Amino acid sequence: MFADVVVWRSVEGREARFSYAVPPEFVPNLAVGTRARVPFGKGTAMGVVWQLRDEVPELPTIRPLHAVIDALPPYTPEMLDIASWLSSHEIVSLAAVLRAMTPRHLRPFSPALALVADPDQVAQGHVPQGVRLRALWNRLQQRPLPKEALDAAERAAANRLVARGFAKWVERRPDIEATAVAGETLPPSPALTEEQQRAADAVGAAMASKRADRFLLQGVTGSGKTEVYLRLAEWALAQGRSALILLPEIALTPQMEQRFVQRLGARVVVWHSQLNEGERSDAFWHVRTQRAVVAVGVRSAVFLPFADLGLLVCDEEQEESYRQQESPHYDAREVAWARARYHHAPLLFGSATPSVETAYQVKQGRLKPLYLTARFQRRPLPQVQLVDLRKDRPFVGSGGMITQPLLDGLTAALDAGEQAMLLLNRRGYHAVWLCPSCGAAVRCPHCDVALTLHRRKQEDVLICHLCGYATVPPLTCSFCGHRMHGLGFGTQQLETVVQALLPNASVLRMDRDTMERKGAYARAIETFQKRQAQILIGTQMIAKGHDFPYVSFCGVIAADQALFLPDFRAAERTFQTLTQLAGRSGRGERPGHVVIQTYNPDHYAIRYAAQQDVEHFIQEELHVRQQTKTPPFWRLVMLRLVGEDQVAVQRVAAATAETMRQKMARFAEVLGPAPSYRARVEDRYRYQLIVRTRHLATTREAIEAWHDAAFATLRRMHVQAVVDMHPSGLL
Ligand code: ADP
Ligand code: ZN
Repeated sequence: MFADVVVWRSVEGREARFSYAVPPEFVPNLAVGTRARVPFGKGTAMGVVWQLRDEVPELPTIRPLHAVIDALPPYTPEMLDIASWLSSHEIVSLAAVLRAMTPRHLRPFSPALALVADPDQVAQGHVPQGVRLRALWNRLQQRPLPKEALDAAERAAANRLVARGFAKWVERRPDIEATAVAGETLPPSPALTEEQQRAADAVGAAMASKRADRFLLQGVTGSGKTEVYLRLAEWALAQGRSALILLPEIALTPQMEQRFVQRLGARVVVWHSQLNEGERSDAFWHVRTQRAVVAVGVRSAVFLPFADLGLLVCDEEQEESYRQQESPHYDAREVAWARARYHHAPLLFGSATPSVETAYQVKQGRLKPLYLTARFQRRPLPQVQLVDLRKDRPFVGSGGMITQPLLDGLTAALDAGEQAMLLLNRRGYHAVWLCPSCGAAVRCPHCDVALTLHRRKQEDVLICHLCGYATVPPLTCSFCGHRMHGLGFGTQQLETVVQALLPNASVLRMDRDTMERKGAYARAIETFQKRQAQILIGTQMIAKGHDFPYVSFCGVIAADQALFLPDFRAAERTFQTLTQLAGRSGRGERPGHVVIQTYNPDHYAIRYAAQQDVEHFIQEELHVRQQTKTPPFWRLVMLRLVGEDQVAVQRVAAATAETMRQKMARFAEVLGPAPSYRARVEDRYRYQLIVRTRHLATTREAIEAWHDAAFATLRRMHVQAVVDMHPSGLL
C-alpha cells in the first residue's frame, strides 16, 4: 500500500503531495485524514495522509512512512474536501490550510475513560476511608464520572479508589454518556414572541427538509436573536444533529457559553484563543467523537469536525474578525456556507447592523431576511445625542476627552443607580510621546508607527501596538534636547480621569492590556453583570453583543477615530461600532441615553448611527460603493509583497504590477504598487497592489498562474507574496 501525504513543511507549490510506502504494520491503522511522520529531505516531517492506493507510484525511489500518529483520523473526508476547495479559493497551500484546521499541538485521540463504581461494593454498602475518597465515592454512586471532568486532586483520589477495588476505569461508551447527560436537569425554554417564532419557523422548515438555505436575522440589539439561536439549536439536537454557533470575538464567548450550557447542558463545547493546548485537544476530540454536539466559538471553530450539522449560525456577521487577516486567509462565513451545503443545513447570519455586502445579497434574493423589529418587551431604542466637538470643547481637567453633556449623562445614570459604558478605541495612556519643540515623536525602530505610552505600576513604558517592542520613554528629545511629553489619549488615561472625576464610582477597564490573563473576559463581564462596577471603559470589544440590563448610559469619546482611514470600509465600520454601542444601553427597564462626541456630526455614518437607521445607512453606503467601484459591486483582490530589503520589495512590486497589468488588461484594473498603510512592520517593508475586477474567476486564474510561476524568483529575492482574495479592508 502507498500513501500520498501533504507535508506540513512543504513549501513547494500549492498542492504538493509526496508518496510513501506503507509498512505492513501500519496498514491496519492507516486511514485517509490521519497524521503521519514521514522522511522529508534529510530529516522528518509531519503530514496528513491525503490518499491511499495500491498501485506503485512512478518514482525512482520510494521511502517508507516513519510513524502513524492517529488511531482515529482528525480530518474527516468533509474537512479534506473543504481544505482542497479553500486552497484554490484563497490561493494558499494545501499544507497551510490543513495546518490551520486543527489545533497546533493536537494530541492523538485516546479513548476517553470514565470512572465507574464497583457494583459489589455498592451493594454491600462499603465506604472507603478518607474524606476525599468518600466525597468522590458518593458522587460516583450516582453516575459514572468522565475522566476529563475530574481535576488533578480528584484524579488522584480516583486512582486510590481503583487501587482499593471500589471502582475501575472503563472506556466511555455512548450509553454511559447518555445517562450522564440525562442526569442533568435543564430549564424549560421560554416561549418565543410572535416575531421570534416566525423567524425560528422559517429556519426550522429548512432544517426539517434538509435545505442549505441562507438567512439573515436582522434585529436591533436586545431583540432576542440569541433566543432564536437557542431554540433552533434545540431543534437540531432533537433531530439528532449538531449545531455550530460562531461568534466574532472571544469577549462574547462567556455570555453565549453560559446561555447555551444552561439550556443544552454538557454537550456544549467552547472554542477560543484562551483555551490551553489540552483543552483544545479535548474539545476537538469531543466534537470528532460526537460527544459534544454544540460548539460555541470564534473563527477557527468553523473547522471543528462535526459529523452531522443541522444548523450553522454566524452571530454579528458583519464583523471582520470572521476573516483571518494573516495567511492562510480564510473567511469563516464562507467556510460555514460551504459546510452548510455539505450537510444540507441552513446557515443563519445574525446582526443588528448587517454588513453592506450581506445587505446587498439580501436585496438580490440570495439570503432570506428575517426581522425582529421590536426589542423584547418593546423596550424603546436609546436617545442619542451628538456633541459637536468643534463647538463643545472638552472641559479643563478631562484630559481633553470629556465634554459637559457626556459627564452629565454619566452622572445622571450613576445617580439613578444604573451603569454606564464609555468607548474609546485606543489602548494605552498617551497616543504618542512627543517633543513639543521640534515635533518629533518616538517611533518603533521596527515598524512605521509612533509608540504609545502605557502607565505601569512602577514606571511608564512606550509600546509598539504592531510588534510589541517596548522601551523607556526618553526625558528629552534626541534631536533637539527639549523635554518630551505625552499627547493624545487612550483607555488607560480615560480610566484615570473618570476615576478622578467620580471617585465614588467603581471603574472597570476592558481592552487587550487588561484582558491578557486566562479567564479575564469572563471575570470582567461577570463583575459588570453583577453590578460590582458602575462604569465599563473599553475599546470596541465592549461595543458588541453583551447583554447588560442595568446599563442606561453609553458615551463615545471620539467617534471620528476610524472614519478617515484610507479604506473603503471606514464609514461602515464607524457606523457599526456606534450603532452597536448605542444598542448596549437601555436593555433593562429604563430607556437608554447615548452621547457621541464627534468632529463630524454631519457625516452620514455618524448621522445615521445616531438615528440607529440601518436601512438608510446601507442605501447611502451602497451608493458610495458604486461610485468608488468597491465591493459589493466590484471585487477587490489585494496582493501584498513583504520583505526586509526595501529596494527588492519595491522592485518585485513594480515588476508584478507590470505583469499583472499586461495579463489582466481585458478584465481587471491593477492599482499600485503603493506602500501599505502600515508601510513597515517588524522590520519588513510592505507594498501592495489592488486588483479591481468584475470577473473573479478569470482574475483568480491569472493570479494563481502568476503565483505559481513567480514562486522561485520571490524566494530568491527574499520577498514574500501574500494574496488576499477578499480583503476585509485595504490597510
Ligand atoms: P440579542 O441576541 O438580539 O441581543 P437576546 O437574545 O440577548 O437579544 O435578548 C435580550 C434579552 O431579552 C435577554 O435577556 C433575553 O433573555 C430576553 N429574551 C429574549 N427573548 C425572550 C423570550 N422569548 N422570553 C423571555 N426572555 C427573552
Ligand atoms: Zn514595532
